[in-house]
Amino acid sequence: MKAATAIWLHGLTCNGNTQSLLCAPEALLDTLLRRVNFLFHPSFCVEDSPCKAIEEVLGAKQRLNILVIEGAVGEDNMYRLKGRSFKEVIKELAQAADYVVAVGNCAVHGNIPALKDDVSGLQFKFKEPGGILGEDFRSRKGLPVINISGCPAHPEWIAMTLIALAENRIPQLDKWNRPKHLYAYFVHDGCLRVQYYEWKVEAKELGKKEGCLFYHFGCRGPLTRASCNKILWNSVSSKTRSGQPCFGCTEFDFPRRNMWETKYNMGIPAQLPPGVSLRGYIMLSGVAKTFTPSRLKKNLLEE
Ligand code: SF4
Repeated sequence: MKAATAIWLHGLTCNGNTQSLLCAPEALLDTLLRRVNFLFHPSFCVEDSPCKAIEEVLGAKQRLNILVIEGAVGEDNMYRLKGRSFKEVIKELAQAADYVVAVGNCAVHGNIPALKDDVSGLQFKFKEPGGILGEDFRSRKGLPVINISGCPAHPEWIAMTLIALAENRIPQLDKWNRPKHLYAYFVHDGCLRVQYYEWKVEAKELGKKEGCLFYHFGCRGPLTRASCNKILWNSVSSKTRSGQPCFGCTEFDFPRRNMWETKYNMGIPAQLPPGVSLRGYIMLSGVAKTFTPSRLKKNLLEE
């Protein structure tokens, strides 16, 4: 099978998604590099400038299958290419590409850089549709920007999506244009602490195996769609498995202030998980706390 062509460009970014991708399992990375020919990638290519690859695509000398953008985009982005602003170049390349992929929360929703007025993600600014390409943008294959959100996005989500597109396998997308098979679940699904959540047993400190991190430590697992506890990081762990709260980094409202803290209104968490009513939460909390199994109150290694 002929490799698909791709150009990967950096906007306003910390490079975290590239670093994340480099941590993908070796076999997956190997498959990615066999299926996708990166005409330019800031870390994978020896060229230190994307100009040649961009000119060839815009001059119709080279077909571009996949355009990948990592980072938010603004009016005054870091560099100009042949007199055009970075934003203009991305718009032109996006029109030429079969598929456009936004990798990481900055490229998807704007994230911290989008606190500045003229900066946004490709088709969203936080939850508002639009972004630099506009709500109605469709690539040559008729698709909106395919969003792989996360800060950073999981290496396997990035690699699997690029491989699928290279083979013209189109994922079903959710309302944020993210592949459903990766973002239909909540981080809560598959977390090893769900029993503690259900019986309202709070974690006493970070980094321990016991307790749920929702009640004190701001865990957003029940409110955040991502498969972090199903497709584990480095194939072995996740934030909640290592005793840290999920910060909800795949959602439009990331980041938030005081991320290690659960906000309460009159003794009830200010944000309940989708589908949980206030009345139901109050009733179940009382029952759960009254009948908590004694084993859940102990250290796991205790008899
Ligand atoms: S730690 Fe977070 S993800 Fe895990 S059960 Fe508690 S709320 Fe859910």
